[in-house]
Amino acid sequence: MGYEFIKNLKYLTSCFLDLIYNSGEECIACGEYANSKSLLCERCNSSIKLCNKSFEITIHGHSMSCYSSFYYSGLGKELIGRLKYKSDFRAGDALVEYMLYTIKFNDVKFDTVTYVPCSKATMKKRGYNQSQYLAKKIGHNTNTKVLTLLKKIKHTKDQIGLSGEERWENLQGAFLAINENEIKNKKILLVDDVITTGATAFYCSRLMMEKGAVSVCILTGAKSSI
Ligand SMILES: [Zn+2]
Repeated sequence: MGYEFIKNLKYLTSCFLDLIYNSGEECIACGEYANSKSLLCERCNSSIKLCNKSFEITIHGHSMSCYSSFYYSGLGKELIGRLKYKSDFRAGDALVEYMLYTIKFNDVKFDTVTYVPCSKATMKKRGYNQSQYLAKKIGHNTNTKVLTLLKKIKHTKDQIGLSGEERWENLQGAFLAINENEIKNKKILLVDDVITTGATAFYCSRLMMEKGAVSVCILTGAKSSI
């Protein structure tokens, strides 16, 4: 009985080590050997066009501090697509690595993490919310609680592929603040996969500021131009 237990334990340990070993072995983009703690090899890592800086978006007198890790092109764009449309959570983990670096690099201050919600229809179709996935990992790695503070009450078209003006119309009245007690007096980090015109960030952050948040910073994996 005891021997069986130890044998099973050894087997489980070896499976676990295999998992860790293999996950650090191959680059998730090109399959080449990745000699680093990163999920990408050095060549793929260096192909990503880093952004990492903060930028301010002001719309209708409402200012937002935004941070993006890289520009929406090449491999960065591919990783986002893999997480969003192909349930590839290792691509999501690679995005998280970049986003954590952006937080550290810019010393972004927050006490609560939240994410841009998706509609019930999208949730049903996709089965998960890619922004929530990123937020959960970021919260876990920064020891910060991740809360659902917004709800999407209107099914909208995907922002990708819409013109600037269409993006604003598309999202009008789409979000609702929930858990208001958790918004009040909080410094909130709002996580999303991509920022383009800032329409999503605008509607979401304005809602939370109206409900008494001290600040809302926006963090996205990528920054895109239309
Ligand atoms: Zn690679």
